[in-house]
Amino acid sequence: MADSWAFFKGEFVPLEDARVSIGTHAFNYGTGCFEGIRGYWSEEEEQVYLFRLPEHFERLHRSARMLLLTLEYTVDELCEITQQIIQRCGFTTDVYVRPIVYKASTTIGLSMVRRDANGQVSNLEDDFCLFAAPFGDYLDVNAPIRCCISAWVRIDDNMIPARSKATGLYINSALAKTEAEQNGYDEAIMLTAAGHVSEGTGENLFIVRDGHLVTPAVSENILEGITRATVIELAARELGLDTVERPIDRTELYSCDELFLCGTGAQISAVSHLDGRSIGNGDVGPITRQMQNIYFDVVKGRNQAYRHWLTPATPDRVATRL
Ligand code: PMP
Repeated sequence: MADSWAFFKGEFVPLEDARVSIGTHAFNYGTGCFEGIRGYWSEEEEQVYLFRLPEHFERLHRSARMLLLTLEYTVDELCEITQQIIQRCGFTTDVYVRPIVYKASTTIGLSMVRRDANGQVSNLEDDFCLFAAPFGDYLDVNAPIRCCISAWVRIDDNMIPARSKATGLYINSALAKTEAEQNGYDEAIMLTAAGHVSEGTGENLFIVRDGHLVTPAVSENILEGITRATVIELAARELGLDTVERPIDRTELYSCDELFLCGTGAQISAVSHLDGRSIGNGDVGPITRQMQNIYFDVVKGRNQAYRHWLTPATPDRVATRL
């Protein structure tokens, strides 16, 4: 049985001791940003390997900058905190790591800065915390899923920075995901206010059309996913497939050959039905199947060419095994 530890206010503490005040700015207004990182347990090497760990913390830094939050730890320090949490918790399963930067001030009021008597503006107090938990599949990766187009429109970049993982932004995704589940679907796909396809509630989206991959451009209010970048790179290197990044119309989804969602949580999940229409013949398409196989080989450390994307949670153990 793994122990539960968190990194909270600069220290490693038992998870149940990592508590914030109900006055916390982030709790009241959603003024935080976070990441979702996967670690895969290797039975053979008896340790957890974290997938593209520095890239997640680089994005956390970018999110914090966009949201005027201060993150005092460097990417290297954040990677080390993650390794230590996983070591302390002693996980022997796949895990999910959740770092959060948040406006920790308990001052009532919306501004994220304070102005002193001399007119000097400074940031209200921010903090950082991180915890991890065992985690299985978020969406089905063995059988294809059923999706709907959401009645909820994806947030626009000029409302809340869409390429940030702002905590408050996820009300948009939570409403869409809940609506989908209430109506019997597995996942929702959101459109932009202009009516183009944006993404799933926690996943980016790819279609296969005439043998090539197409995905919404970064200007379509998407989160610039690390799995999306991984898929684009693996498709090019391993399958010789180029990806076109451009606006996608809703009916391109209804008429495409294959459709899949991808993300840290979702991994790669094939979509068989959208709004009651079957995609292709309703089975997992051949390119999606190949991408799933390649992706799982890479994240589970079975493809040596991409080992540089994996960070061992216990580096000493790698050294002693060599
Ligand atoms: N879009 C949204 C809204 C997400 O929350 C996520 C999950 N982080 C993704 C896309 C996929 O991003 P990534 O591949 O980096 O996990």
